[in-house]
Amino acid sequence: MQGVDAVVVGAGFGGLYMLYRLRELGLTVRVIEAGSGVGGTWYWNRYPGARCDTETMQYSYSFSPELQQEWRWTEKFAGQPEILAYANHVADRFDLRRDITFNTSVVSATYDEEHDRWSVVTDADETIDSRFVFMATGCLSTARMPDFPGMSSFNGRTYHTGHWPHEGVDFAGRRVAVIGTGSSAIQSIPMIAQQAKHVAVFQRTPNYSIPARNVPMTDDYERQWKSDYPALRQQQKRTRTGILNGLNDVSAMAVSDDERQRQYEQRWLTGGTTFMASFNDLVTNKDSNHTAAEFVRQQIKATVRDPAVAELLTPRDYPIGTKRICADTAYFETFNRDNVTLVDIRKAPIDRIVADGIVAAETTHAVDDIVFATGFDAMTGALLKVDIRGRGGVSLRDKWNAGPRAYLGIATAGFPNLFMITGPGSPSVLSNMIVSIEQHVEWLTDCIRHMQNCQMHVIEPTLAAEDAWVEHVNKAAHRTLYPSAASWYMGANIPGKPRVFMPYIGGVGRYREECDEIAAKGYEGFTLAPAGGAPVAAPRAL
Ligand code: NAP
Repeated sequence: MQGVDAVVVGAGFGGLYMLYRLRELGLTVRVIEAGSGVGGTWYWNRYPGARCDTETMQYSYSFSPELQQEWRWTEKFAGQPEILAYANHVADRFDLRRDITFNTSVVSATYDEEHDRWSVVTDADETIDSRFVFMATGCLSTARMPDFPGMSSFNGRTYHTGHWPHEGVDFAGRRVAVIGTGSSAIQSIPMIAQQAKHVAVFQRTPNYSIPARNVPMTDDYERQWKSDYPALRQQQKRTRTGILNGLNDVSAMAVSDDERQRQYEQRWLTGGTTFMASFNDLVTNKDSNHTAAEFVRQQIKATVRDPAVAELLTPRDYPIGTKRICADTAYFETFNRDNVTLVDIRKAPIDRIVADGIVAAETTHAVDDIVFATGFDAMTGALLKVDIRGRGGVSLRDKWNAGPRAYLGIATAGFPNLFMITGPGSPSVLSNMIVSIEQHVEWLTDCIRHMQNCQMHVIEPTLAAEDAWVEHVNKAAHRTLYPSAASWYMGANIPGKPRVFMPYIGGVGRYREECDEIAAKGYEGFTLAPAGGAPVAAPRAL
């Protein structure tokens, strides 16, 4: 059995950076990665049209001034191949690969209370003995396949957007079904429609989407960012979303109708999800939200030629932004093509899959290929896939039976020295993921340095601090409109999953302050203990 200081699970952006920092602390590290390469979400999600909907000058690491100066993005919103190339560059530039084991999954992690060590078992039947475990498993990494009756009887090809073949897929001359209309579908449908003979889009819930208006990177724009990167990165960290989006810090209700319309039109023309920064209360004030939603509905009506199709594509029963807002390239326009049809499976759900197609409302839609753009078991899926057992053999699955419970979204009581990068209860998916990843990794690096300095071996949150944090996260969510949508943020896309708003909506700026304050108070809410010793830091609730 090999012994190391730390096991990091996952070699996406979180795992790569965690490895880099742990090495700096002088720790021995093993990174275990299921894929054959680095990049996490950008390794798996290779569907046509996959691209980041945060500007890549902002969706990139800030920890290395040299890296952020030398890397050159070719587009405002980089596509998946370029982001994956960037992840590979980072792995090479910082010589990270030598500590990563690829094509291997962690199946269990068990805490040995006698020795204060974790025993991490992989599907290669290796057991690694480690002091720390860092779960850098990603928030949207467990692809979710629905279980329609007859799935196995289908004679054609099937794909999931979150698990796309590396060699790509040729849809030329094929009749393709796409199930789902979330971000992945909205990006891939226009691309598939350009190739396929016919595309049938199976929609359960229409989505709000803003044109991305992606453009090639210009030297000028790049220079503006790079000449001021340190200051701009600092500003990003203090925002709500970790994105400099030109937030218009007034209520939509505080301006005239004309001014409101002007603001929406300008944002619509600029493109991208920063549309939601048109006003400061779009996700907290129903009336304000209604004005933004109505504006988008009008754009759909003006874009889609067939009024019945336009109406079906128009979201009406949840506030804009409370399901993840999408950014697209010609999504609504694609429904004007002769080779694209929209199938409403809200009124007439899919009954079953048969050998040659999909049956909904007794109509068989004959297709050659099915693309499942059906999303992920978000935030908790990848964590609970691993059989994690803490003190007393208690499993994380049992502990989180009624929903995830974690202090700061970083650690959970009863599971000492086990950490989550962007776990439930932290801003994570409500923010620029790289900003949130860097904040967690740096906070944890400081925490472990603190443990080294005061010769502490074990750290663990108290139940009282964890309970108070979970309550804080819930209260923050219920001050917004988010819980009113049946979204994956709420676990609503997975039958039987507890309905709990999982990310922390306080904003990355405020969250950072809260984390820093806890660290400054000697890691308040955590207990620390020396090797083989009793806890020495008094547990104090928030
Ligand atoms: P998603 O947002 O969860 O969308 C899944 C879609 O599949 C929804 O339309 C859902 O309908 C439908 N669906 C699921 N199960 C179904 C069933 N049994 N029958 C019929 N329809 C079903 O998943 P996603 O599009 O992969 O996106 C997930 C998240 O990943 C995004 O919200 C975003 O955070 C991230 N993402 C980001 C980017 C980007 O940066 N550009 C791109 C892609 C994804 P309902 O809505 O009715 O449940």
